[in-house]
Parts: sequence; C-alpha cells; structure tokens
Amino acid sequence: MKLEIGDIRIDRIEESCDISNLPHEDFPDATPEALAPYLEWLKPAAIDPATGRIIMPVQTYLVRTRHHTILLDTCVGNHKHHPDMPLWNQRDNYRLLEDIAAAGVRPEDIDFVMCSHLHLDHAGWNTQLIDGRWVPTFPNAKYLFCQEELDFAQEEGRKGDSVYGESVQPVLEAGLGEVVAMDFALDDNIMLEPTPGHTPGHVATHLVSQGKRAVMSGDLIHSPFQLPHPEWSPVYDWDRAMGATTRRRFLESLADTDTLMMSQHFPAPSTGHVFSKGDGFGFRYLGCDMVHG
Ligand SMILES: [Zn+2]
Repeated sequence: MKLEIGDIRIDRIEESCDISNLPHEDFPDATPEALAPYLEWLKPAAIDPATGRIIMPVQTYLVRTRHHTILLDTCVGNHKHHPDMPLWNQRDNYRLLEDIAAAGVRPEDIDFVMCSHLHLDHAGWNTQLIDGRWVPTFPNAKYLFCQEELDFAQEEGRKGDSVYGESVQPVLEAGLGEVVAMDFALDDNIMLEPTPGHTPGHVATHLVSQGKRAVMSGDLIHSPFQLPHPEWSPVYDWDRAMGATTRRRFLESLADTDTLMMSQHFPAPSTGHVFSKGDGFGFRYLGCDMVHG
C-alpha cells in the first residue's frame, strides 16, 4: 500500500499477519463481557470471528523523502530466538526484504533505520544471521536509538530477552548506531515525539511535508478496541498507567485533525484518521469504508 504525505512517499509493507492471543490474555480489562459491545465492528478485521483472537499484523513503513530513504520499525526478522513466542521464533521468511525490493529499494539504499522501540517485532530486521554472525541488514544506514530505550533493552537482555544481543548490539558494534534524543528532528520532514509507557524510550515518528502530516504510532496503541478504552493497557506495557496516559494524550492530539495515523498492529490498511467519540475515540481507515470505534 502506497501513500503520499506532501512529497513524502510511504509504503506500508507487511511482514506477517497472524492470529494471536485472546484479547483478555494480553489486555486484562478486555474481558469477554467488556468487549461484547464492540465485537460487531471488531469482527472480522481486528478479531478473528472463528476463534475470537486478535488479528495482529507486523509491518514496516518504508519512507522516502526528497533526501532520505528510511525504515520505520523492522518487524520480527529471521532466525531470532523467542522461545516464548512460537509464531515469531526462528523465522525463515524473506518476504519483507523481497517486498521492500519490489518497492524499488535495496538494503544498501536505506539511509536511516528508526525503531519506535526495541521489542522483538519492531527491531528484528535490524540484523540478519550471515555465516553464524549477526550483521546489520542495512549496511549503509544509520540506526537511530534513544538512550532510554537502549538502556531498557540492555536491561531486558540481562534478564534473558534476545533482542538487545541479536538485533541491537551487533549494530552498535558495527559502528552504525547513533544515539538521539526522544524529541529528535532529523530534518523538516521527520521528527520524534516522546511517547513513553509501552517502553521507557518509546517514540512516535511524525512525517510532515507541504502542510500534510502523518505519524507512526508504534506500540503506544495495539488494537482498535483501545479506541473506546484508551485505559486498557496490555500486560506488555512497561508502565501500564503511563501507557494509558500517553495513549489518551496522543489520541486527543490527533482526534478530528487531518493528521494521518500509521499504526503498527491495527488490521490492514492500518492507517487512517482518529475522531472523537463519547469519552473515547474512533478510527476511519484510509482508502476503504472501514470504521472502528
Ligand atoms: Zn509490537
């Protein structure tokens, strides 16, 4: 799916779309009773009608400005060790790189890699396993990291998580990492917004060109059922209260504006506009008649 924001071209490229957990397994507030009023619109795109499970795409946004070619988040990747996550463990599937190539971009063409945060499904293709060694997948890119997120990922690594060791450290050791502030601006087109809660160093990435605006929201919101209930934080938020506060503030800032929200895990087409609805929000997807909330 191709989008344009002023003279910025954006390709939304899915790595996978899996049927994941039951909502209340990840979102304790999303009990079957609490979710019942919303199933009519959550099915079939966001909740699988057959199993009641969350439908969970994993994707990257390939961004081309007049000056730079940028990847926003790098999905799960291949051969990564995630024994607790069978769907994402030891993958061997080059679809993402093939689809980036089909959009006319080779790995060596990427100028910047920007991860909203350093979880397994957002930093995986930072590296790939070549001859038994993890090497940066995008050899000419600068990988921009926030120190808060590096510290958190390293700490998670000490507890046994594989992301830092497999997808971050090899980039730093290759000299391709660059630490930036959580409100860093790359130029007049691309700027970060601190959105902590899911992780300490989580950022949203704003794209601005010719008066048009979009923002990639990373994992500050996962599912459309958080639109009516921004306070429903998932168990995998580092600070669930902070996550809820950030989520509501972010949705309020977008609601009823022309800014396009590019989500990570909403069902395809994943992008659209936020509107106010009662105490919460709704989402009008781009290029189709699907509305959630
Ligand atoms: Zn995610």
